[in-house]
Amino acid sequence: MKEIIKSKEKGNLVVISGPSGAGKGSVIQGILKEEDNLWLSVSMTSRKIRGQEVDGKEYYFITREEFEKKIEDGELLEYTEYSGNYYGTPRGKIHEHLEAGEDVILEIEIEGALRIKELIPEALFIFIMPPSMKELKKRLERRNTETEDKIIRRFKRAYQEINEVTKYNYVVVNDELEKAIRKVQAILLAERCRVDRIEEVYVGNEEELLHESLVDHKNLVNPESKI
Ligand code: 5GP
Repeated sequence: MKEIIKSKEKGNLVVISGPSGAGKGSVIQGILKEEDNLWLSVSMTSRKIRGQEVDGKEYYFITREEFEKKIEDGELLEYTEYSGNYYGTPRGKIHEHLEAGEDVILEIEIEGALRIKELIPEALFIFIMPPSMKELKKRLERRNTETEDKIIRRFKRAYQEINEVTKYNYVVVNDELEKAIRKVQAILLAERCRVDRIEEVYVGNEEELLHESLVDHKNLVNPESKI
């Protein structure tokens, strides 16, 4: 039977930002485990590999020179310099995954997010917020993968980023990871139900048939009925 609503099959482009230490990575890994129709874009960076990171998984780790060549060749959808390193989104397979009906996630900082907003205004913007600045500082220190100076730079940047939260569509406070994951899942699901995704509403001739059968029923119950 033909379905009553035909919605766009194309996936949504979902931009997720939030200060380092807010737990974006853990939230995203959580939803990737739960959802099938989701693809995470792997960014490129000129920063050094950190802790357990693997090239091609968290990032493609390249040199500054290689990064600058990618910029020149127009291979990046957006890029920025953050804490002294380049970060950028390869154009690569984003379009392909969206067309295949998958939601595509970009985990990027605010400047990149605003650039995406200019390029693709219909994208969805989610901000992951730490429960408090105190907790954010603790999380950054606990990571133990960066120098004190770098931690301070990231912490300062967090204040600027939090001030931009109103440029996003949704905010999720990551006080408890499981709850934050469920909230992001709920947002993705709700976005799939938006009426502006509708391409066609099919009611066929059901309305007429229903009306006729109601009239017949009414006439049987009340033969004097005028309808
Ligand atoms: P980290 O060094 O902690 O992995 O990342 C630093 C910041 O860069 C994070 O806020 C992260 O979201 C952002 N970032 C990662 N990849 C990209 C990207 O491709 N483009 C932009 N604009 N920011 C990115």
